[in-house]
Amino acid sequence: MAETTQAPPAGTIPSNYAWCSWHKDFSDTARLVRIHEAGSGPGGGTFACVPCREKHGLIPVADQ
Ligand SMILES: [Zn+2]
Repeated sequence: MAETTQAPPAGTIPSNYAWCSWHKDFSDTARLVRIHEAGSGPGGGTFACVPCREKHGLIPVADQ
């Protein structure tokens, strides 16, 4: 059997592929714009894609 179970090479999957909470779909331009406070639910963050960030004036957490 020549079957391989190797993972795909790094770089084939966009690292910033995430759910945009504004247009309710996945986007490869989504960036973290809000960090949910710990203590209420599972935590995590809210992501927004480029068009939604421009439309709503959102600034990625990393750039704040
Ligand atoms: Zn969006």
